[in-house]
Amino acid sequence: MTDTPEVLVIGGGSTGTGIVRDLAMRGMDATLVEQGNLTHGTTGRMHGLLHSGGRYAVTDQPSAKECIEENRVLREIASHCVEMTGGLFVKRPEDTEEYFEKKLQGCHDCGIPTEVLSNEEARQLEPYLAKDIDKAIRVPDGAIDPFRLCVANAASAEEHGARIETHSKVVDVLVEAGEVVGVEVEHASGQGKRVHGKTAQREKIYADYVVNATGAWAGRVGDMAGVDIEVRPSKGVMTIMNVRQVDTVINRCQPKGNADIIVPHETTAILGTTDEEVEDPEDYPEEEWEVDLMISELSKLVPMLKEARTIRSFWGVRPLYEPPGTGTTDPTDITRDFFLLDHDDRDDLPGMTSIVGGKFTTYRMMAEKITDHVCEKFGDTTECRTADVPLPGSEDFSVLRDYMDEFGLRSPIGRRSVQRLGSRADEVLKTEGPNPTVCECEGVTRAEVRDGIKQAGSDLNAVRIRTRASMGNCQGAFCCHRMANELAMEYPEPVAREALDELYQERWKGERHALWGEQLSQAMLKHLLHATTMNRDGDPVRTGTEVDFGAFDGGPAVGEDSTAERAAADGGRQDAD
Ligand SMILES: Cc1cc2nc3c(=O)[nH]c(=O)nc-3n(C[C@H](O)[C@H](O)[C@H](O)COP(=O)(O)OP(=O)(O)OC[C@H]3O[C@@H](n4cnc5c(N)ncnc54)[C@H](O)[C@@H]3O)c2cc1C
Repeated sequence: MTDTPEVLVIGGGSTGTGIVRDLAMRGMDATLVEQGNLTHGTTGRMHGLLHSGGRYAVTDQPSAKECIEENRVLREIASHCVEMTGGLFVKRPEDTEEYFEKKLQGCHDCGIPTEVLSNEEARQLEPYLAKDIDKAIRVPDGAIDPFRLCVANAASAEEHGARIETHSKVVDVLVEAGEVVGVEVEHASGQGKRVHGKTAQREKIYADYVVNATGAWAGRVGDMAGVDIEVRPSKGVMTIMNVRQVDTVINRCQPKGNADIIVPHETTAILGTTDEEVEDPEDYPEEEWEVDLMISELSKLVPMLKEARTIRSFWGVRPLYEPPGTGTTDPTDITRDFFLLDHDDRDDLPGMTSIVGGKFTTYRMMAEKITDHVCEKFGDTTECRTADVPLPGSEDFSVLRDYMDEFGLRSPIGRRSVQRLGSRADEVLKTEGPNPTVCECEGVTRAEVRDGIKQAGSDLNAVRIRTRASMGNCQGAFCCHRMANELAMEYPEPVAREALDELYQERWKGERHALWGEQLSQAMLKHLLHATTMNRDGDPVRTGTEVDFGAFDGGPAVGEDSTAERAAADGGRQDAD
């Protein structure tokens, strides 16, 4: 690890962490910088579907083939991040037979295994499917944890000597004599947030090569280097139910459309999504109609969703890219493929390549292609090994059952801990002292929270994405302060308080879109608990501030007020600009 790495990667999503792991495994001296937490961008706001490729089997067969290939790879190398739920493409009476046949044929053409199920067979598998569905196609879709996967990639990169800097924003791309020679980063202030750089300072990091893996932000980094990258960000909503109404991924078998998929994810089910082009990847309307649409459309497949409890909604922005001259107006028509833009070939600017577009499911393949490209620049022919070497935690997943025995983990809590930790269970769970449950909804114990703090420092949102603590039914009502308590064992009180505030903000950001019925009572209970036991109510009567009722649907106003801030995906605060 040096301050002048061979390769500097910008962006700590699936693409960037995949690239830095691949570079480091090939022996390159690599550094990754991320403006927020790992998964701060789109990767932390996706659906969690490990595509079988079935979704693209009619419209985009090359993508479908890549998906099934990577689906198989990730089941092997990232087994502790994947749940093989299987998926169904469900045909309702109003959906055409012609499309059903096209889907079946498309899957066949792309090598995606299928099975046609009758109404009875599909409902035997998923009893809450609508009674009047016609039939379904079964495919090997799965659920994947993007947080765990990115952290595992970053951990592996570090094990191979890479430097990973979170909370470090690239504010300039350094160009000297017509060539990119590095970047200037601004490190966030605050204790324990980051490891290597200098707190609250700017740092120039010179590198032989720069990779721009900033997804929907790629155009902004391009601007810093003086090149045009035409990213077409497209937003999509996901609404989370408090339980899994289905254990299989349910897709509607119809041509592209909004609100056509339900993904069972850990203790929840995630409904999605919409596809609306937006100008700015950080500032776009989060609209009520999008949430309503999820429930009204998807209850045609699973009627009980109408009555079920939603716990939060969140939005992500697809980093879509359209090669110049294509002229597509409908974002759903923009390809989901990825593009490698070598700025030397494209813009006469050596020293930097951008990678845009693509999917989470194919992140490893994208990383392999870009790493091949970078290695070629260095004349390095080392082969890629990321499809064969398991990620930390997935080295030997069969050990999971042994751990259950070894630690006497018969309870659901123990089972979940071991499932999350995979082959790291031994290292994390063998603790000296007592190991009480910190988060009951997700079954997270103190040992896991402590492990998260050891990895992530004082950022409780980074602990959250590593453990799932505060992501369950009560959305942190009963555990946020316990997490802060664990933090206070290691850090001064003001640091723990600030981290607690950030975690609350991040939880509230999604909850405010689901305030009706039982969830409203739950949110009120949480508020009163925190207000009455910790005096955290910020009561407008006491503080003299106005309640911003508009913020409940549209998000906090971002205006001239320089104090206007909004919470980022991982709970950090983003400036209003
Ligand atoms: C609604 C929705 C649902 C989706 N569902 C699925 C799905 O189920 N399955 C699937 O396979 N794919 C899915 N996708 C696609 C998938 O999420 C993305 O393709 C993938 O996460 C993109 O990863 P990335 O690393 O390229 O971008 P990102 O995750 O956005 O990473 C880019 C990173 O760069 C950082 N960055 C930006 N600017 C700077 C800067 N100046 N300095 C430092 N860092 C910077 C950002 O903070 C960000 O963390 C979905 C996308 C959306 C929007």
